[in-house]
Amino acid sequence: MKLYNTLTRKLETFIPHDNKEVRIYTCGPTVYHFQHIGNMRTYISEDILEKSLRFLGYNVKRCMNITDVGHLTSDGDTGEDKMEIAAKRENKSVLEIAKMYTEIFFKDMGKLNIKMPEIVSNATDNIDEYVKIIKELLKKGYAYESGNNIYFDVSKFPSYYDLSRKKADDLQVGSREDVQFDSKKRNQADFVLWFNTSKFENHALKWDTEIGNGYPGWHIECSGISIKYLGEYLDIHCGAVDAIFPHHTNEIAQSEAYLGHKWCNYWIHMAHLNDTTGKMSKSKGEFLTVENLEKRNYSPLAYRFYCLQSHYRNTLSFDFDKMNDANDNYNKLINKIHSLKENTNNEQINKQIYDSYINKFKECLCNDLNTSSAITLIYDLLKENTNNNTKIAIIEQYDKVLSLNLLNKQIITIDKELETYINEMIEKRNIAKKNKDFLLADQIRNELKEKGIIIKDTREGTTYELIK
Ligand code: AMP
Ligand code: ZN
Repeated sequence: MKLYNTLTRKLETFIPHDNKEVRIYTCGPTVYHFQHIGNMRTYISEDILEKSLRFLGYNVKRCMNITDVGHLTSDGDTGEDKMEIAAKRENKSVLEIAKMYTEIFFKDMGKLNIKMPEIVSNATDNIDEYVKIIKELLKKGYAYESGNNIYFDVSKFPSYYDLSRKKADDLQVGSREDVQFDSKKRNQADFVLWFNTSKFENHALKWDTEIGNGYPGWHIECSGISIKYLGEYLDIHCGAVDAIFPHHTNEIAQSEAYLGHKWCNYWIHMAHLNDTTGKMSKSKGEFLTVENLEKRNYSPLAYRFYCLQSHYRNTLSFDFDKMNDANDNYNKLINKIHSLKENTNNEQINKQIYDSYINKFKECLCNDLNTSSAITLIYDLLKENTNNNTKIAIIEQYDKVLSLNLLNKQIITIDKELETYINEMIEKRNIAKKNKDFLLADQIRNELKEKGIIIKDTREGTTYELIK
C-alpha cells in the first residue's frame, strides 16, 4: 500500500512497525462547538484509511482523543481557552459543554457511517500520563519552568522543523501574528507543556500535581494519550493539514524527546474543505453541520459520497449546487443497485469477474486511498456483462470500506409537493403547540406518522425523516 507521508513529502510503501497490528492515532475534536462538515471530511478520510487497512488484511488499533481542556484559540500559547469561551457563550460549565458536544459528535460520526476508533479518550482523563512525561522532559533538560509555566525548549530538539519544513526565522517575533513576544520563553518557538496559575487565574479545570496546580497544554494530550494506549511506536498519525504546525510538530518534539527514539513513521494529512470564503472554520462563525444538511433533506451519506469523490489530499470546495449533484448521483446509484437486487435468480457468482473487481478495488485503496477511482469502479461494474449476483457480491465487499450503505439503504427521493405538505403540517403543529393545543399537535404528528413521516423536535426546530 502506498501512502503519502508528510514527513518525507513522498508517496511511500507502508510497512507497519510490527506484523501483529497497525497502530493509528487520529486527533479528535475540540468539543467546544459542533464539528462542521469540514472536520467531518477529515474523519471520513481517516475512517477510509482504517477500513482500507482492514480490507487489505491488517489488524488495526486506532485511538482518538477528545480535547476538553487546554486548546487555545491560536492553536499555540496565545488567545483564549476554547472550552471556557463556550462555557461563557452558553452559560454552562466546561464539563457540560464537553459532554453535550461530544455526544453530538458521536451521533454525527454514526450518521456518516464512520466507525468509532477502538479507543476514544478524554484529555481530562489522562492527567497522570502528561505529568509523567513532563517530569521526564524536565529531568532530561528538554523542558524548563518559567513564570510558573512549563515550556518545551525547541533548541534542544534539532529536528523540530522537519515535519513542517518551516525555518526557525519564520517564527521570529513580528513575522507571524500568532507568535507574540513572550518574555517567559527562552526561544519564541518554545511551547507550553503545562500551564500553572500564570495563565487564566480562574481556569475552571485545574489539577494539583507534582508539577504544580494547573492544566495541560493542548499538544501534550495527544502525545500522552497515544503513548498510553498505543505504546512507544506509532505507525500512522493523522489530522488535517492545519495540524501540521504547531500541533503535530510539537507532538513529535515532546514524544521523541521523552521516548528517546523515533515515534511515528507515517504522517498523513487531509486537505481542507473550503466554503465560498475559504477554509470552513468555526472561528468564522458560519459553518455547516451534519444536522444542517439533514434539515435541507440531504442524507449524511450523500455528503460522504460527495467527499469520497475527491482525493483526500485535494482541497474540496463545498457549495449547494455540488451537494445537489452528489445527492442526486448518490440516490441514482442506490436505486440502480436496488434494482439489481430485485432482479436476481440463482446464478452462480462469476469468480473471475469477482476476483478481478476486488483486485482493482484494492489497487485503488493501495494508491494512497484513491476513493474517487473506487467509486468509478462501481459504475464500471454496473455496466459489466455479468450476472447481478456477482455484482451484488462485489458491491457488498466495496461497501465494507466505502460505507455508503450501497445495498441496504432505501433512499426515498422526496418530491417538492410532499415537501411543501410536510412543512405546512409542521407549521400548523408549531402554531398548535404555541396555543397549547397539544391534542391537535399530537393529531398532526400521528397523521404524519401514518404516512411514514416521523417528526423530531430538536433545539434548532422541527425536523423530519421518511421511513418506508
Ligand atoms: P478541531 O475540532 O478544531 O480540533 O478540529 C478537528 C479536526 O478537523 C482536526 O483534525 C482539524 O485539523 C480538522 N479540520 C479543521 N478544519 C477543517 C476543514 N475546514 N476541513 C477539513 N478538516 C478540518
Ligand atoms: Zn492531536
